[in-house]
Amino acid sequence: MAQTVESMAIAAVRRAVVDAIDASTAELIQLSKFIHDHPEVALEEVRSSAACAEFLERRGWSMTRGVAGLPTAFRAEVGTGRPGVAYLSEYDALPGLGHGCGHNLIAIAAIGAGIGLQAAVDHIPGTVLVFGTPAEEAVGGKIIMAEAGVFDGIDAAMGAHPGTIEASCPTVEGSGQALACQAVRIEFRGQAAHAAADPYNGINALNALIETFNGINALRQHVRTDARIHGIITEGGDASNVVPDFAAGNFLIRAQTLAYMNELVAKVRRIAEGAALITGAELNYVLAERPTYDMITNHTLARRIKRNLDDVGLPLPEARPEDGSGSTDWGNVSYVVPSVETGYPILDRVCTWHSRDVVEAADSEMGYANTISVAKSMALTGLEVLTEPELLSQVKGEFERAKAARAA
Ligand SMILES: [Zn+2]
Repeated sequence: MAQTVESMAIAAVRRAVVDAIDASTAELIQLSKFIHDHPEVALEEVRSSAACAEFLERRGWSMTRGVAGLPTAFRAEVGTGRPGVAYLSEYDALPGLGHGCGHNLIAIAAIGAGIGLQAAVDHIPGTVLVFGTPAEEAVGGKIIMAEAGVFDGIDAAMGAHPGTIEASCPTVEGSGQALACQAVRIEFRGQAAHAAADPYNGINALNALIETFNGINALRQHVRTDARIHGIITEGGDASNVVPDFAAGNFLIRAQTLAYMNELVAKVRRIAEGAALITGAELNYVLAERPTYDMITNHTLARRIKRNLDDVGLPLPEARPEDGSGSTDWGNVSYVVPSVETGYPILDRVCTWHSRDVVEAADSEMGYANTISVAKSMALTGLEVLTEPELLSQVKGEFERAKAARAA
């Protein structure tokens, strides 16, 4: 059957995209090994981010270092005009463990995809961006970057996270979820007194904190099943014969949507206010960090990633819709740009994450091979976003509908 000139041209560009990644594979793996062998924890990824930035600069990308006030974040750009497709890299390691989350692979999945799509924007309009997003394991660099507006005006953002043999691609409605999360610090100030001699002169700050826990436990019956509220006591007095005049706890409040999470943050505040009222202690209710938003996975985009993964020889299971469990700083990006973070396996078995097993897998033949396949798939999906206006409008339509549903 005769191909149209246009489809032949697209086929040639697709080949050029894959060829560009093949030609850079050895150097991409070298870059990943360097990051793996020099693990740097959140916000200290000086050498890792510099190595990534220099890798792109050597290939003609324009580079801005230190975006959003984060010295180890960067924004790299190549090509001109719209649409704009972004790939998000990470490179922070875990304290005392090294690359036990495989972020050295996330780095080259994004950079590899960028190098691939660069080969296309030599011939077609569109901008390719690679962001270095630090501190995923701690403060969440993407949260700060999203707040600073560095992702504004971008049409699609993609990234990949390694996993075990059970890793999957979030193609199905309801999959690829992560919970919105707010860290809350609750402090009570009371009045010290001898716990036996004159306890009636004391105001027990610890009692206020304990009543807060009790109130939260009473609330549990009346929250949606996706909500998670969990906390610890960090200060609860110094001596059992002294009425504690200070008590404090750290809590995380999570839910399926940002809006519902905010409702719960307000309810927990009222519980703490109630505890202050009944004990006489003074409350300090602090939103300790910026909120992490829930992840709005763009399934239209994910289905293309999956199809391209099949094409490049890494067929992945499709994620099942299931309740979100953890939280990710991708969530804040996903409220600004249609986003997908796909999983993919770097082990042929199941293991505990954030472990020595993962440190090993993040520097393994399978780890590198599958990361390169994912890079190709994300590059080809980016090419489709740049060349298929119909796809882009579907991606954006889904994005707007999902946001509207959350706001309702
Ligand atoms: Zn991770």
